[in-house]
Amino acid sequence: MFQAELRKLPSVNKLLQTEELTRLTHQHGREIVVDAARTELDLARQQIMAGHPTPAPLLTEAITKRVAALTQPTLRPVINATGVIIHTNLGRALLSRRAQAAMVQAASAYSNLEYNLEAGSRGSRYVHAADLLCRLTGAEAALVVNNNASAVVLTLMALAQGRQVLISRSQLVEIGGGFRIPDIMAQSGAKLVEVGTTNRTYVRDYEQALDPAELGLILTVHHSNYQITGFTAQPSLAELADLAHRHQSLFMEDLGSGTLLDTAPFGLAHEPTIQESIAAGVDIVTASGDKLLGGPQAGLILGRADLIARLKKHPLTRAIRVDKTTLAALQATLFAYLENKATEEIPVWRMIAAESKTLARRARNWLNALRRECGSAEAALEIIDTISTVGGGSLPGQTLPTKALAISGPAIDDLAERLRRPEAAVLPVVARIEAERLVLDPRTVLPEQDQALVEATVHALARWG
Ligand SMILES: *Cc1c(COP(=O)(O)O)cnc(C)c1O
Repeated sequence: MFQAELRKLPSVNKLLQTEELTRLTHQHGREIVVDAARTELDLARQQIMAGHPTPAPLLTEAITKRVAALTQPTLRPVINATGVIIHTNLGRALLSRRAQAAMVQAASAYSNLEYNLEAGSRGSRYVHAADLLCRLTGAEAALVVNNNASAVVLTLMALAQGRQVLISRSQLVEIGGGFRIPDIMAQSGAKLVEVGTTNRTYVRDYEQALDPAELGLILTVHHSNYQITGFTAQPSLAELADLAHRHQSLFMEDLGSGTLLDTAPFGLAHEPTIQESIAAGVDIVTASGDKLLGGPQAGLILGRADLIARLKKHPLTRAIRVDKTTLAALQATLFAYLENKATEEIPVWRMIAAESKTLARRARNWLNALRRECGSAEAALEIIDTISTVGGGSLPGQTLPTKALAISGPAIDDLAERLRRPEAAVLPVVARIEAERLVLDPRTVLPEQDQALVEATVHALARWG
């Protein structure tokens, strides 16, 4: 009884001759379209057997959708209206124009990545950003690897494998995404020795736990994403450096965010800088390239030249090596610091430095545009005083005052979802919900995205409620 319906199904060739699928074949190649057509025809046969025949136009539509799902990038641009500047889930730091251009250039032409043009012989990729990093931080030498987590593993493995690593109990932390200091130690083969207590650790705690014959290094990990307040104590960097050096050992700091610029002039607490750690006598400092530094994903290792030389020779270095486009972007980012243009050029710093009156003006422009485009939602829109945060495991608890557009109404989660999951051709917007209102913070929306944000909001409001 299904035979008649089954016979009605078009052949793959017949389907490919339709206008829609001919276009798709030109665009994406025959193989993908044929594949999708076969799959959809199989499904259609099963549907017929189950007593639910599919009309032919729906078949073409299903094939088109299948091809689209396969050929569209899953990594898509998003408007970050959350007010969290270094948003880990939305890609952390954005690159400056100079860094973007450098990345494109490194990707599109051959380069002297590992070639010494003067000598006509093999060179090292590690020379490229090293001098600049040293100049900006005061370090003797520098090595750039894939990310900070791998920088920590490499350093512990190369300098402390099988030996004691002393760390305060206040720093045995999870950085995020399952990156836990005790696990990293275990991976690196270093012997973790916990000293002190969660809230108070003294130099004498390190001294008592230390075995001079066994000591690999003393490690301190910056409190990137949490605060210990109240009755607390932790020795200074200089005190710990002194202790390590008295025992012919090393002092390492995992700084995490790794800023070169002081955050205090922007109304934030002071985030320790790389320069300060080097000046305090830390032998090896590790930091991220894509947190407050505002560059590409990278792990920066800075410190004593003899130690950096040992790290370069370690086999793991090859496994976590940095890519040419990253080196190009990092160097271009560092030029902005060299020329004192970080707050003009680097998106993270531009966002931190954004002035309240500029933010208020942009939020007001959004509001006016929305009132023009959808008058019915008028009563639900207002400009509010609220806060932005730096995010990305830096400056926990610190906030920047901001002006944002707030939208209120019933089923606010529904509006948030409509913004996140728009119809095609509109950019997804990630917003924040605060006291039953949807909040759009201009601080993290790029000025060139203002138009797109309004458009996306108009679309979401039209489909809301
Ligand atoms: C962020 C962070 C890391 C991990 O850095 P990635 O660049 O994400 O690998 C390690 N340690 C600290 C203290 C951090 O803040």
